[in-house]
Amino acid sequence: MIDLHLHMDGSLTPELVGELAAERSIRLPVPEGRTLAQSLRVPDSCRSLNDYLACFHLPLLVLQDPPAVEKAFDSLCRRLKRQGLAYAEIRFAPQLHLKNGCTQEEITEAAIRGIARSGFFAGLILCCMRGKGNEAENLETLETASRRLGRGVAAADLAGAEALYPTRAFSGLFARAAVLGLPLTTHAGEAGGPDSVASAVSFGAVRIGHGLRSVEDPQVMSLLAEQQICLELCPTSNLQTGACPSLAEYPVRHFLELGIPCTINTDNMTVSGTDIFREHSLLQHAFSFTAEEMGGFLQTAIRHAFLDPEQKQFLRRSIGI
Ligand SMILES: [Zn+2]
Repeated sequence: MIDLHLHMDGSLTPELVGELAAERSIRLPVPEGRTLAQSLRVPDSCRSLNDYLACFHLPLLVLQDPPAVEKAFDSLCRRLKRQGLAYAEIRFAPQLHLKNGCTQEEITEAAIRGIARSGFFAGLILCCMRGKGNEAENLETLETASRRLGRGVAAADLAGAEALYPTRAFSGLFARAAVLGLPLTTHAGEAGGPDSVASAVSFGAVRIGHGLRSVEDPQVMSLLAEQQICLELCPTSNLQTGACPSLAEYPVRHFLELGIPCTINTDNMTVSGTDIFREHSLLQHAFSFTAEEMGGFLQTAIRHAFLDPEQKQFLRRSIGI
């Protein structure tokens, strides 16, 4: 298995979050009558991306120093290794981890150390954040990614509240990423419409996180097929945020029929309460995919991973495809 769309802060076990809090004497504001585990996972009432993003508050409280970030990546990677994954691209936003005065560089180095310590084969994607007033932080994220590109960092991303901060507002940021030669994926077509996907592609994104709402515009669908832009689908998360109303309406077959490359991913193992096996079986059963078609998702993941050709060859050999 391969996961190309996995957020570190949304995939930590409640045990680890509790342990990091205890080590730092942080009292986590868990609401009355709820456990930590319940507070880290989306409630059944979750209907929007904004509701979904609220679950990241607690883990971020304990991830504000390099040892915590290193331990979090190490622990997550060991878990992925135990689950049997061959490779993952793990993302996070270093600018959300600076409350104790660290730099994005220090936080990113801690993440790279954590991955290396685990012995798991993983790449790091640094997320810029949608928002207002954080332009300098976003540019610093790109500079940090550029300094570490190929040495721990695989690519950059844009994440956060898409409905509130449309993709087109970030043209300057994407232009800087292009100047730095950073491979780019972008969360788009999740809370925003197909225009958000078209903007991301026109700005240089070669992969799209989710991209579901592309289905609303045939021209955007053609664009994705023509340019072979890879969609990082995360079915459970997409149902929870309301990006797709039901599994029956999940447009994966539609994408595949048009030749749009699709991969299956978790987004957030803890927040969504899932893992990569569950995501694969969810789609396999809902759409009666054959074993060959399921293998196709893995082939696509390798083809569009932010890896060089030798690393992709290694990955193909290690999976046996
Ligand atoms: Zn995501």
